[in-house]
Amino acid sequence: MSSLRRGKLGTSAVLSLLNNDRARRSRSTFLSIYAVLCLLSCACSTATLAEDAPNWSLLAPFQRTMTRAEFQSRLDRVFSPGGAFQKFLVYTNDGVSVFNDEQHKQRLYRIEFATDTRPEVKRAFKTLEELPALKNPPEQPLRGLRIALDPGHIGGEFARMEERLFKMSNGPGEQEAVQNLIVARLLAPQLQRAGATVLFTKNDFRPVTDSKPEQFRELAEKHVRENDATRPDVRAMGELAREAFLLDATRKRMELEFYRNAELRARASLVNDKLRPDLTLCIHFNATGDDGRPAPDNRLMVMIHGNYSADSVDTPQRKFELLWKLLENSHPTELAAADAISCVMGADLKLPPEPARPGPNAAATGNNPYLCVRNLIANRLYHGPVIYLEPYYQNNPTTYARLLAGDYDGEREFGGQRLRSIFREYADAVAHGVIEFYAHHTVAR
Ligand SMILES: [Zn+2]
Repeated sequence: MSSLRRGKLGTSAVLSLLNNDRARRSRSTFLSIYAVLCLLSCACSTATLAEDAPNWSLLAPFQRTMTRAEFQSRLDRVFSPGGAFQKFLVYTNDGVSVFNDEQHKQRLYRIEFATDTRPEVKRAFKTLEELPALKNPPEQPLRGLRIALDPGHIGGEFARMEERLFKMSNGPGEQEAVQNLIVARLLAPQLQRAGATVLFTKNDFRPVTDSKPEQFRELAEKHVRENDATRPDVRAMGELAREAFLLDATRKRMELEFYRNAELRARASLVNDKLRPDLTLCIHFNATGDDGRPAPDNRLMVMIHGNYSADSVDTPQRKFELLWKLLENSHPTELAAADAISCVMGADLKLPPEPARPGPNAAATGNNPYLCVRNLIANRLYHGPVIYLEPYYQNNPTTYARLLAGDYDGEREFGGQRLRSIFREYADAVAHGVIEFYAHHTVAR
């Protein structure tokens, strides 16, 4: 998706709301030849405005759990390969101080490095090293594991607001939230049969957050005042047109704060405080955004966490979030699981990877072409290993027809091909990948 270009149509209002870090962010766009708003890419990594001051003491259990070499390597290869975060650090022999400013005047926290003995960390998830202790029977490779399914987007009455109502030509609209939920519901029993405890972040079309868009009016007005109102193209508008544009931009910003920021933070609280999974699977469908054209094929992209850019480490909260994800040490497990699952999915679904994109992905992904390292709200805020799945392109004509067909038994014909339900195909491939990955580590030999 980072290879996608921004849609050419009147998306400035929407895009202006996707503040910061735009170059690496998924794009929403309007398809010019299609009838309705549709969002083409799901991964949401927009900056958050409503941030609390971080509670640094929450990092205390991670003190002396990583050596300097481990910390630096993880930072340089995965979390901050561009060097953005390193500017805020000052190393000494036995630790590293994290500053709020590049001049190193305002210290936020100090992390001490591991020496010979490391304290045991109580994590909510099992690391790769802990999996063999499960000693599972071959028919129950997921026994003792908690797997959270996070079907993307709210859907229902919120689908238009979220810009996740997809429609090609004069066809009917398809809500991505529906597609994701169908897959999650087909996937859950397969994982349960293999012994897993399966947990849903949501299982209907109601928001997890109790917030309402209107609550974010003040925040939205501030954002629009500081960003949209100062843009040359907006300043050049006629007075009435500018007033109307800014009111609309404010509404969109309030909605974005609701369905993206507040919703994903609410899901994160659920995952971190209640579900406490060993693995979270974020379930989405992808789409391309080039000039509104139908996608000629389908591909698979699987995202893991990392790649913080300069504007995603600019506040104490962001620095805290990076350090939490680095120090909780979910990366090795997340990478190993994503590596295995993406390869199985690619083979089962016969989907090639997206074209190679420039950037530091290769170092962090072991050159698995399906994997992309992204700093998304969900995989940043959810504790533990998080794998963000984005197979298919909704705007591929065959895929669109298959999505419209819904879930069904057996096969149906699409353009001369007999094909299974796309939802079963997707769910089966994920189940296959998850079971194969864990079986390798958990089954007693
Ligand atoms: Zn999505």
